[in-house]
Amino acid sequence: MKYKIIGFICCFAVILIAVFAPLSYKDYRKTERIHQHEQEIPQEPCTDPADGGLCTYLPIVKIDTDGMEIPGRPIKDDGNNRIYTRATDGETTIAAQMDIIGNDSKEYHHANETADVSSEIRIRMRGNSSRTFDKPSYAIRLVDKKGENNPLSIMGMDAHHEWVLYGPWLDKTAIRNYMFYNLAGEMMSYAPNVRFCEVILNGEYEGLYVMTEMITGGKDGARLGLRVNAKRSAFSGYLLRLDHQHAGEEALNSFTTYTYKTPFLLQIEYPGSRNRDARLTEEIRQDFSNFEKTLYSYDYDREKHGYTSMIDVDSFVDYFIINELSSNADAGNYSTYIYKGTDNLYRMCVWDFNNACNNYFEEELPYTGFFLNNRLWFEMLIKDEDFTERIIQRYHSLRKGLLSEESLYRYIDETLDFIAPALARNDARWGSVEQQAKGLLVPVSRNLDSRSAAEGQLKGYLRNRGKWLDENIETLRQYSASSRVKQYNEVND
Ligand SMILES: [Zn+2]
Repeated sequence: MKYKIIGFICCFAVILIAVFAPLSYKDYRKTERIHQHEQEIPQEPCTDPADGGLCTYLPIVKIDTDGMEIPGRPIKDDGNNRIYTRATDGETTIAAQMDIIGNDSKEYHHANETADVSSEIRIRMRGNSSRTFDKPSYAIRLVDKKGENNPLSIMGMDAHHEWVLYGPWLDKTAIRNYMFYNLAGEMMSYAPNVRFCEVILNGEYEGLYVMTEMITGGKDGARLGLRVNAKRSAFSGYLLRLDHQHAGEEALNSFTTYTYKTPFLLQIEYPGSRNRDARLTEEIRQDFSNFEKTLYSYDYDREKHGYTSMIDVDSFVDYFIINELSSNADAGNYSTYIYKGTDNLYRMCVWDFNNACNNYFEEELPYTGFFLNNRLWFEMLIKDEDFTERIIQRYHSLRKGLLSEESLYRYIDETLDFIAPALARNDARWGSVEQQAKGLLVPVSRNLDSRSAAEGQLKGYLRNRGKWLDENIETLRQYSASSRVKQYNEVND
């Protein structure tokens, strides 16, 4: 009997704790996605005799270029145009060796340990404005001895051959991409996977990086799970990117391009040019134009001929919400990815939150107002009251859970704790936060001089932005409202 009472009291206590414990983002997670910062970190200091150099519980990425400089740094040509440096043989990438130590473990690791994953790679610098930063980001392709793609699982992420090694610089919290990709990954069917790591380039410590999945269809069906049969010139799914035009890349002249609805350019990202002949390119162009013509027609929201059977509406709703909440002002102009899956539905994929939450170069961004309602595709979707209502409902539901202020703050706190030792080493390498990325934001008063100030800015912006959206999300209905005149003049719609 005594034990029964004890058992009963214990059960009751567990229930009480469960009911009254503060909820965090962990309680709202729906997917099996790994959030790296949740891994248990060693509590005791490292006592390994091999110690002395780099000692970290993050994976170590060693890259050896055999003394060659990594190409892709922006320079001016004779005509003062921006071009990128090339390898001595004229190629845009160079061959190098990559070794990863502590690929997927929770222990301390040292730079002189045996690698868990090794591959030859092709490497270049990547990005637009970020290429001018002291600490560059890199695009990496894993290759075998013959130069063929060599897909490998990296840091517990699905095997693939294309990766981005992103080095936070402008984002002085260093967590914007990590956090928003992971949050989007809980909301949407796909968002790029990410892991923090520390990089050693040709024996020199280069600081904190984020190994990131490149958005791609993937030969092995990984990531977006698209398929292309180049021999039969057939596709079941493709991936497009809206962005600046890059030299030598041809734009997809689809409906919204040749009707001048956007000054930005669409490109086929997948299938890549090597797996795509002129006929396949033309088929994709026509297929995507058909979708855009539907979206930009007067009967676009009718069930029979409209867009609703062509897109995964939830994907567009969630893309809208996460980019609006973070004021990711490039979304819908630059780095904007849309893909058609093997189920014939279009979806959006998030990318690049570097400038989000008022971390934009040119100007201070207000925490009021919407912007995606003016951007390609969304400018039509938002005219449909069903779409608007889906955003409003979904927004309120997310703000009670995954995207609540409490949940976001906790995500920030826990991630910053997790990377704190690596960030300290990073700053020892690159100089104080005040020196890093000095004066890049305009006006200069926006450039923060400490990691804690950056954390405060991120939290403060999300608090104000969230509050504004909580109070104003319903005003999205203005974009789908019927005209007052119509009510009196027409009996039937
Ligand atoms: Zn150690």
